Amino acid sequence: PTDLSQFDPEIQAAIDAELGRQKHEIELIASENIVSQAVMQAQGSVLTNKYAEGYPHKRYYGGCKHVDVAEDLAISRVKELFGCNYANVQPHSGSQANMAAYLALGKAGDTILGMSLAHGGHLTHGATVNFSGQVFNAVQYGLNPETETIDYDQVAQLAREHKPRIIVAGASAYSRVIDFPKFREIADEVGADLVVDMAHFAGLVAVGEHPSPIGIADIVTSTTHKTLRGPRGGLILTNREDLAKKINSKIFPGIQGGPLMHVIAAKAVAFKEALQPDFKQYIQQVKANATVLAATLVEGGLRIVSGGTDNHLMLVDLTSRDITGKATEHALERAGLTCNKNAIPNDPRSPFITSGIRLGAPAATTRGFKEEQFRAVGQMIVKIVDAVDATGGEGDAAIEAEIHQQVDALCEQFPLYPNL
Ligand code: PLP
Repeated sequence: PTDLSQFDPEIQAAIDAELGRQKHEIELIASENIVSQAVMQAQGSVLTNKYAEGYPHKRYYGGCKHVDVAEDLAISRVKELFGCNYANVQPHSGSQANMAAYLALGKAGDTILGMSLAHGGHLTHGATVNFSGQVFNAVQYGLNPETETIDYDQVAQLAREHKPRIIVAGASAYSRVIDFPKFREIADEVGADLVVDMAHFAGLVAVGEHPSPIGIADIVTSTTHKTLRGPRGGLILTNREDLAKKINSKIFPGIQGGPLMHVIAAKAVAFKEALQPDFKQYIQQVKANATVLAATLVEGGLRIVSGGTDNHLMLVDLTSRDITGKATEHALERAGLTCNKNAIPNDPRSPFITSGIRLGAPAATTRGFKEEQFRAVGQMIVKIVDAVDATGGEGDAAIEAEIHQQVDALCEQFPLYPNL
């Protein structure tokens, strides 16, 4: 078969419907973005056919000379982007990047100190349901209850008490700048190695809009698909020559087989895009938009965890309204605004219900939204939340329909993939 729509109309229909959803909804999920068509072209290429176990110029398969070009380019570009000496671009995901980083620094049973999922950390930072909490002896730090920022005193105290092999800094739902030198100081005091997982804010680091962990952390990991705006995947960086080979061998043959060469080519394209001057403007706009969104929500009577945002995302605490994250997520989705429910620190509700929502600016900013549009989006969210509150969680169909019209108008004004 040569044509997808003819051979497999069911899958074609799902793809078309998803494109329609992305075009007609405002994407506020903080971990998502909208890649360029150039990135999609590389990812949807014949490179998917190629086995290339090993690394450029040292492969276990023949016929790798062209995919070597792609991987060499991805490596040299990401090194230039972040100003670092060694890069591995093969991790299939951020989770696999973290697994390889931990195995390069430690072994099963070692103690790992990371941020708890409940306070904004990622599953792979030591959650009990994840390999990181099962293979390693995980100890978890969290936020200071007053400032709702990372409790560095607690990190230091837990480090002294548990003598971790690895300390992990980085988060999935944290809106403040992370103090890498402070983590370094704590790691040095107890003889631990430091991993910084910059998955969420890598795009900000790339253009100097967030302090860089390069040269401070022993290993830096990331995803490529969030603020970095590349294909879904992971990467690992280091300046420590003694770790470079170890990291490579932990990815392959340690935890992965053949690399996804089509994805690596798409990563190379995304890194080239991020090296262009307009990527810095984009990231500055993401931050400006997130700031306006947070301020508009506060004006509307909502509370932002830690009081605001320094980056691309924010966590909205709904406890003062006594409505759930789940009901709010659903009401926003009915109005054409996509986000995710998210636990707030010390959330009394379960992770399936929650008392918060997480909002981010990267995707809608890619669409072209500026402060004016984000102010409008903030006002829409306030209206929906007020309606959820007034109806005891049900939501108000008339208000949702009215907001949906405003969403439609914005989506039309800022079209996505206009030629698709
Ligand atoms: N690290 C952080 C901080 C994340 O937020 C995420 C994803 O949400 C990951 C790692 C894992 O990435 P992936 O979903 O590609 O495994």
